[in-house]
Amino acid sequence: MSMSDTRSPDVRTRGPDDDPAVTVVAGVHGDEPSGVHAVERVLDAGHEFQRPVQFVIAHPEAVDADQRYLDVDMNRVFPGDRDSDDRERRLAAELLDVVGETPTLSLHATHSQVDPIALVSREFPRAVETAARLPTPTVVDTTDAVDGALNRFGDVVTVETGQQRTEAATESGVLFIEAFLRLHDALPGVVNDAAPTFYQEDSAVEKPASASPHATCSDVYELKVKNFEQVPTGTVWATVDGEELVAEEAFVPILMSECGYQDIFGYKGHIAGETLSEAREHWGLE
Ligand SMILES: [Zn+2]
Repeated sequence: MSMSDTRSPDVRTRGPDDDPAVTVVAGVHGDEPSGVHAVERVLDAGHEFQRPVQFVIAHPEAVDADQRYLDVDMNRVFPGDRDSDDRERRLAAELLDVVGETPTLSLHATHSQVDPIALVSREFPRAVETAARLPTPTVVDTTDAVDGALNRFGDVVTVETGQQRTEAATESGVLFIEAFLRLHDALPGVVNDAAPTFYQEDSAVEKPASASPHATCSDVYELKVKNFEQVPTGTVWATVDGEELVAEEAFVPILMSECGYQDIFGYKGHIAGETLSEAREHWGLE
């Protein structure tokens, strides 16, 4: 496939002029339609934006195909490469050019968690500040466990708004977009403080292979702990083919599920702070 065959990110700018001050991204993963629907609803709501806002569908082809990605997972290949053979690497580079220095919200949905989660990098303190004021009980720093995600390359807050393909995820996406635009003075109104807890991912947790390679995922893996609840040392936290996995040290499960990811359960981490000031201190932020 030649480069000209890949559809570029779809960008629509609204507001007082064409030079975008803030960015809302959906459709980095093509099988998470709630973000795309949330953008459409906000565009159709008749808002008068006070600052220019660009709304971006990152990967129109994957959205139309209803597939997470076509060649590689875009949210693992930032900053991308315009000369790559992989569509998502080329699109990742294009998307970073579109986003530039603007504060950005990127909408996702998940298998493993119904309550919304904000994902940031502590390398971008302004994104941490924004995430702390969004309508979410949980803010997660992914810096140490996830390479190549969009939130590692700018003032970006990624939100998992809810469960994939649900109306609740779309409605929550609308709330996040409107709150984000209010926080950046693109919409009038105030945002209520949700007072989230702050977590830090330490590492991805690999899934041991099953002895029966053709078995259904949900028959093989059983997770015995809840996300964001501390797992003490010695706890049986999962089983694989009925064999117990025991925690060698205490951890907090983050975005863990039996079958949400192919090769990993999710992430293990720790609490970085019960308040923004505790988290800032934990992360050494000014
Ligand atoms: Zn996603």
